[in-house]
Amino acid sequence: MAYQITSQCISCKLCLSVCPNNAILVVEDGKRWIDPDLCTNCAGTIHTVPQCQAVCPTRDGCVKEPSDYWERWFAYYNQVKAKLTKKQDYWERWFTCYSQIYAEQLQKTSG
Ligand code: SF4
Ligand code: SF4
Repeated sequence: MAYQITSQCISCKLCLSVCPNNAILVVEDGKRWIDPDLCTNCAGTIHTVPQCQAVCPTRDGCVKEPSDYWERWFAYYNQVKAKLTKKQDYWERWFTCYSQIYAEQLQKTSG
């Protein structure tokens, strides 16, 4: 399976110049796209690791396209988990907000 650009991409263009197969293209809206017909995962080149992923400053800007349902499922799960754990106070803020609204509603109905 080829590599693909994800929504984590910040359009820094670093990967464009390092791809040995010129597989990374700029498409509409300046977004990057990896042509799956050209990407060889850098196999058969002097590189030992996929170059786009190696130079990407974001964690998940270039990732290997999942090959089956469960691989895709876990890739999505890991992406969501990473987002949530980066925002460690997310649930705390959610709960504060929720409890405030709930308390207001209770006041309205009891008063
Ligand atoms: S894995 Fe290698 S061949 Fe594929 S897009 Fe990235 S740099 Fe190019
Ligand atoms: S190196 Fe990563 S962040 Fe930069 S353009 Fe490529 S995918 Fe996007």
